[in-house]
This record gives sequence, structure tokens and C-alpha cells, in this order.
Amino acid sequence: MGLIVQKFGGTSVADAERIMAAAQRVVKTYQAGNKVVVVVSARGQTTDELIDLAYEVSDNPSTRELDMLLSTGEQVSIALVAMAIHALGYPAISFTGGQVGIITDSYHTKARIKNISTRRITEELNKGTIVIVAGFQGVDADYNITTLGRGGSDTTAVALAAIMKAERCDIFTDVNGIYTADPRLVPEARKLSRISYDEILELASMGAQVMQSRSIEFAKKYDVPIHVRSSFSDTEGTLICKEGKEMEDIVVSGVTVTKDEAKITIRGIPDRPGQAAIIFHELAKKNVNVDMIIQNTSANNLADVTFTVSKKDAKEALKTAEKIKEEIGAREVNSDSKIAKLSVVGIGMRGHCGVAEKMFSALAEEKINIQMISTSEIKISCVIDESHAERALRVVHHAFQLDKIPSANLVTHH
Ligand code: ADP
Ligand code: ASP
Ligand code: MG
Repeated sequence: MGLIVQKFGGTSVADAERIMAAAQRVVKTYQAGNKVVVVVSARGQTTDELIDLAYEVSDNPSTRELDMLLSTGEQVSIALVAMAIHALGYPAISFTGGQVGIITDSYHTKARIKNISTRRITEELNKGTIVIVAGFQGVDADYNITTLGRGGSDTTAVALAAIMKAERCDIFTDVNGIYTADPRLVPEARKLSRISYDEILELASMGAQVMQSRSIEFAKKYDVPIHVRSSFSDTEGTLICKEGKEMEDIVVSGVTVTKDEAKITIRGIPDRPGQAAIIFHELAKKNVNVDMIIQNTSANNLADVTFTVSKKDAKEALKTAEKIKEEIGAREVNSDSKIAKLSVVGIGMRGHCGVAEKMFSALAEEKINIQMISTSEIKISCVIDESHAERALRVVHHAFQLDKIPSANLVTHH
């Protein structure tokens, strides 16, 4: 008997009707002879509403208490899904993250899973029960409730699939699969039949919220096939899997844009060894994740360093940068939160040249200025002004003719 993990996102459990529909899908999988672990998110906009509420009572809510609050959203969903399955006449039991032994570190609101003890889940599955687990949450070594960062239910689902050696992990969401760009922003985006772990990892890290990037790290490490599909229909979705040779034929698979970052510049840094080490050591100490970094060539023995951080960390990063400025005798610190980062991703880039040129030309034609550039083997990102974000996305999507890729090209059978 195979084990299948099925995850339902917020829209897919938004109201009683959607919950019943999710329950029916689960039961169908169970009836086909599978063991089923279900992971659910908070209903609809619950998490956003809870965050807003927290900020209504405090400008600076304790992150421990935020986690205590946010974890309740998923707890409501698991109970309702279990009840819906009972109503259909099947055995089901719901658990919080802590109850199934999802142990995380103590970084509240962005905790990472360290360990999962599968005893309780396995016991219930062996009794023939459908197990429902709250996504997005765990507990630290002292039983403080933690959450895994926005979109964290994906990571709960994939981590469970990995550790339980599931046959596959279904991600039920509100779109038909993974597209060449966010279909809400680019209506002509095309659905991909398959995408490699590396590509979706880059897309997710660069802002495509369809999967939390941490979940893909698990999937890649443990080789978990993921099927991203709509909870509203039975159409085939997108399979996330190991890359096949043929996949390289497609140079660019997707484009994404994010407004989640802010840019900080430290100017007039005395140019001597160790300065960058000091800057990024101080930021790391504050647990600020730095994304892009550029340093210009120094003039008059003074250098400028620009880096981007997530908007959430911008205040802390700016405070830290001001402190560093004093310490190392730099001239000034500027910040800009009105930026967007546009990225094109594709494993085919490894073997093709001209991708950067095509992206830059498309932006140039639209008179969109590029502020920063960074690249990896399979990705090129540009920082631009926030006001151009959506237009830039569509223009670049069009430049790579992603609206025209024939779907036959996308299917790569092994
Ligand atoms: P869920 O609540 O099911 O986890 P999310 O809102 O987290 O759903 O993720 C699904 C959304 O991701 C879609 O509604 C879509 O707008 C967005 N998205 C961004 N980039 C892409 C992409 N390349 N392909 C598909 N969806 C994308
Ligand atoms: N409810 C959480 C969020 O909105 C986790 C998730 O949906 O994956 O971020
Ligand atoms: Mg999500």
C-alpha cells in the first residue's frame, strides 16, 4: 500500500464547501488503497487577518506570540477537514505540528524543521486512519510553538513526504500548476508539464509564491516527486522532478518578479581587507538574510557596497548598517524599498548564450533602468524600480516567447 501526502492551500479550504471538496479528494485517494497524510493551511486569508490583528494591538509584536497566534489558523482547518472526512464515513484524526513531533529551531516566524518523529503518524496510518496534519507549524526544543515562514505548509507537506518515504506529494492550490510566470500577472503565461527541482527552487526563491522554496530543498534532497495542481478541477498539473536531458532544450522556463526586497547602500567605505567580512558578519549576527551584493571598484580608496534584504528585515538591516558605518568609518548609508527584482530561470541557460543580452535589451527597449544584476548558472536577476515591476515581467516573458512555447515541448517523458 502506497503512501501519498496531499496538501491543501488556503483557498482550497476557504469555506465549508471547499473543505467538503477537499475531503472528497482525500477519500478518493484513500479508497484507491493508499495511506493518506493530509496537510492543510489556514482558511482563506486567515493568516493575513491574524497578522493585521497583531499589529493593531502592538507595533512590535513578540515573534513568539505571533507564532502562537498564527498557528491557530491551521488548527481550525485540520479539525474541520477531519470532521468532513468523518461525515463521509471514513476514519480521520487531526494533529498539530507539535503533536506529530515536528521539531524546529527557535527562530520564530521563520523556523526550520530539524526533526520529525513519525511514530504517531505511522501508528494511525497502520490502523487505517487518514492523518490530517496542521501545516506551517512545529515546536522548538522547549515546546514553544513556531511557524515556518509564509507558505510554510508546502514545507510541512514535502518534509512529511520525504521522511515517510511517500510515493508522491500532491499540492492542491488555486491555479492549474506551475506556469511560465504568475498567471495573475501575465495572462498569456503557459502551464509547464514538468519542471526540475533546480528551476522551481530558483523561481520560488526569486518570488514565485506558488511553492515555498524551503519545500523544494527537501524535495530535491530526498527525491520527492511533487504534483502541483488545482483543487478546483481534475486537470493534470505540473510535475516537479529531477531534470531530464530533454529539459535543457528549453532555455528559459519561467520569469518571476518580487517586491519583497529593499536595497541598502553603504557609501565611502575605506578600501581595505576585511570590511565586507565585518558588514556581513554583523548582518548575519542579527539573522538578516542578504540576497544580492555588489561592490563597485573603489575610487580614491573608497568603495560602495549595495545589498538587498527582505523588506521584513529592512529596518533591522538599516540599523545594523548605520552601526557598521560608524565602526568602519564609512561616509553614509542609503536605503530604497521601492525596488523590484525580476528574474529569468532555466536549466537550458547553461548551454546557451545570449540570455542576459535578450533580457537587458527587452528592458532597454521599454526604457526600464537596471540598478543591480546578479546571475547563477541557471538564473539572471535584475533590480529595477518597483513601479515597472509588472510591465517588465510581461515584456521579458514576451521576449523569450514563453507565451508561444508549444506544449509538446514541455512534456518530457522518460
Ligand atoms: P496556496 O494557498 O494554495 O498555498 P499560494 O497563494 O501560496 O496558494 O500559491 C498559489 C499562487 O501562486 C497562485 O494563485 C499564483 O498567483 C501564484 N504564482 C506565482 N508565480 C506562479 C507561477 N509561476 N505559476 C503558478 N502560480 C504562480
Ligand atoms: N497559512 C500560512 C500562510 O498563509 C502557511 C501556508 O499557507 O502555507 O503563509
Ligand atoms: Mg502557498
